[in-house]
Amino acid sequence: PGGLVYDVVIIGGGPAGYAAALYAHNYGLNTALVEKDDVGGTCLLRGCIPAKAWLQSAEVFTTVAKAAEFGVQSSEPTFDWGTALARKQKIVDGLVKGLSGLLKQRKVDVINGFGRLDGPNRVVVNDGEQVLEANNVIVATGSVPRTIPGYDFDGVRIVSSDHALDWKARPQRVAIIGAGAIGCEFASLLADLGSDVTLLELMDQIVPGADAKAARELQKHLKRRGVKIKTGASVAAPTITDAGVTVPFGDASVEVDVVLVAVGRAPVTEGIGIETTSVQVDRGYLGADLTTMQTSQPGVYAVGDLLAGTPQLAHAGFAEGIAAVTHIATGTAAGPDYRAIPLVVYTHPEMAEVGLTEAAAVDQGYEVETHSHSFLGVGRAQISGQNQGMVKLVVQKDGPI
Ligand code: NAD
Repeated sequence: PGGLVYDVVIIGGGPAGYAAALYAHNYGLNTALVEKDDVGGTCLLRGCIPAKAWLQSAEVFTTVAKAAEFGVQSSEPTFDWGTALARKQKIVDGLVKGLSGLLKQRKVDVINGFGRLDGPNRVVVNDGEQVLEANNVIVATGSVPRTIPGYDFDGVRIVSSDHALDWKARPQRVAIIGAGAIGCEFASLLADLGSDVTLLELMDQIVPGADAKAARELQKHLKRRGVKIKTGASVAAPTITDAGVTVPFGDASVEVDVVLVAVGRAPVTEGIGIETTSVQVDRGYLGADLTTMQTSQPGVYAVGDLLAGTPQLAHAGFAEGIAAVTHIATGTAAGPDYRAIPLVVYTHPEMAEVGLTEAAAVDQGYEVETHSHSFLGVGRAQISGQNQGMVKLVVQKDGPI
């Protein structure tokens, strides 16, 4: 009583949470950010940034390996895993430091600890070490890797992307379960670095939900680089021995040194006091009005990977965090236009799309026409030595251009 009441307390310092915290400064809101780890969240610490650092090392390696094509002579390159790992970590650490500085500069109180709601207007840190009163709370606790029965993560034989980003040496034989963004990105970089990769996908195309033609094109290029791809693969429980892991699928199996499970990410909403509010929860995901990010509990907002029915992407999280703060400060509905959120899979070659796929457009009753153009005819693609792939446009017949 009589103590400080924050305008906003944010639980979780990933992209959605820190974007909200930084943006709140624009409105002069008195803001606290509760985070149990370093600030940065999955994207910065265990996701986009470290994964792209690895992909870049793999790209440099393959570029040097084919340098002779460009008239550049060099000896056969070798890959120093430890140096690439250290470089990845240096990039992450530098960005964490930069983000911490920015939060400080914008006068956000960053509180290191585990935050839990105690009713809609109070956040308890570390079981009562600190109690924060709040006019508004933004829940941004993110997601963690999911797994499937029989594949509990042990960090050695059965791993998630969290572990794989910190491998100390190149794994020789790898099975990747799930060919979504994570599975495909790891398949691409491990193949470039010389691992023997088997990619097992339950659905009948890789990157399910993406344009079928683009997915086929990507599949072709991954195969050409030696990735063994099985779609429609139903994986059964593994056998773990001293020599490795046997992964059965259908009536076949593969023996590998390590299995990377990349079958999606589950929301982190247990133990954070959601039940002390009237926020709607659907299988662990939080419901919110996607125009304001406000939940069914006035004054409590949900943003980022834990939201029901939205893409789990850092850039979507940024937009959601900003929308929540905008609503708190001004009452304006500024939720993202989800139709305009691009998806990029950072394989080599990369795959990117924005808007409706052909299948989704047809499903929604549009009459469409498509236009495809191979990179073989693009000068820039020839010059950079990356002439594989294509662009596909899906347009509404006789519609606006
Ligand atoms: P995902 O949902 O994108 O892909 C999971 C894949 O696993 C799907 O293809 C699914 O059909 C498959 N699968 C599920 N159960 C299976 C089973 N039993 N056997 C075989 N396959 C199975 O999830 P992800 O790749 O783990 O990524 C998690 C989230 O992070 C996604 O939302 C993703 O978009 C996001 N992410 C994005 C990027 C990017 O934008 N570049 C990179 C990494 C992650």
